[in-house]
Amino acid sequence: MKINIKDIARKNYGLISIVVIYLWIYILSILLSQETFTTFYRSYFFAWMKKMFVPISNWISLPFLYVIIVIFVFSIIRKSIQKGIKNGLILLFKWLVLLFCWFYILWGFNYKCTTLSHSFSTSGNIITHSELVDRYIKSVNILNTIKQVNIKFKVDENELLSQLNTTEIELLKKYNYKNISSSRLKKLEPKGVLLRFSTSGFYFPFGFEGYYDAGLHELQLPFTMAHEMAHGFGITDEGECNFLAYLACQSSSNDVLKYSAEMSLYAYLKRYIPKEVRDTLIGLNEFVKKDITAISSQMDLYPDILPDLRNLIYDQYLKSNGVSTGINSYSTFVQMIIHYEKLIEN
Ligand SMILES: [Zn+2]
Repeated sequence: MKINIKDIARKNYGLISIVVIYLWIYILSILLSQETFTTFYRSYFFAWMKKMFVPISNWISLPFLYVIIVIFVFSIIRKSIQKGIKNGLILLFKWLVLLFCWFYILWGFNYKCTTLSHSFSTSGNIITHSELVDRYIKSVNILNTIKQVNIKFKVDENELLSQLNTTEIELLKKYNYKNISSSRLKKLEPKGVLLRFSTSGFYFPFGFEGYYDAGLHELQLPFTMAHEMAHGFGITDEGECNFLAYLACQSSSNDVLKYSAEMSLYAYLKRYIPKEVRDTLIGLNEFVKKDITAISSQMDLYPDILPDLRNLIYDQYLKSNGVSTGINSYSTFVQMIIHYEKLIEN
């Protein structure tokens, strides 16, 4: 059978164009300095695409993830039925190539850009055990102070979205992030759809929108939403997203944001300090303990399916994109916060 290259190229014009754009940006990421590439990609290309797409995401209230899944599955099944399994598999391959290239074009090339910690030097400063203990005590005190009495916080997700967008944009401007526009977040249902895979939220580049699980406890919402929103601004590093989320929540005048962020930092700090040491330090008051128990009970409703698999896959994904600490990058925000607070104090 004679293969007609011209015919194949004509039929796959869209796919070939996307692959060419991907390769073109990839080559630029190698040829240009990191700073120049950051200006080209994050400040202009990514910012421009986001400004174009976010209004569409606002218009479609359904998570774009579900729209893509339906189109993906439906098109492959239809092709397999109409033209046979072989053509169905060819279409599946084309889809995978398309999604891979689109992923990097729409967001993934942010991995090649400068990082947030690039803006303030923390290199050479190793955190000591006593600094961790001091920060742990500070964290306990902050939580106890916010929850002195058994008040019930009100959480309005739309208000959170608007508050967090404003605060994170202000913070990022200080770190030379340019052309930043608001990020979109959507609640993902059914409850536990992500929690059962050890995930509370994630960023979906194809829709320029972040998701958070509908099953989260309301006290987890501010920090989780702030974290996913940070990805929407082109931040790829998990520790940096936690860092920005923490700063955004703490700079708010709303106590629930501060409380949610401090609870997350407290949970990370706890991992670094052995229980026998913690037992000798100041403890949480009964109201904070009650909230932590309520959160754990809610999380128990959605036990993990294959807990190690998600971590293994995500660890490999992060490492393949240049994040050397892989899945452990989430906890680097503890060091970042301690460094940052030292810089602010001096
Ligand atoms: Zn993340």
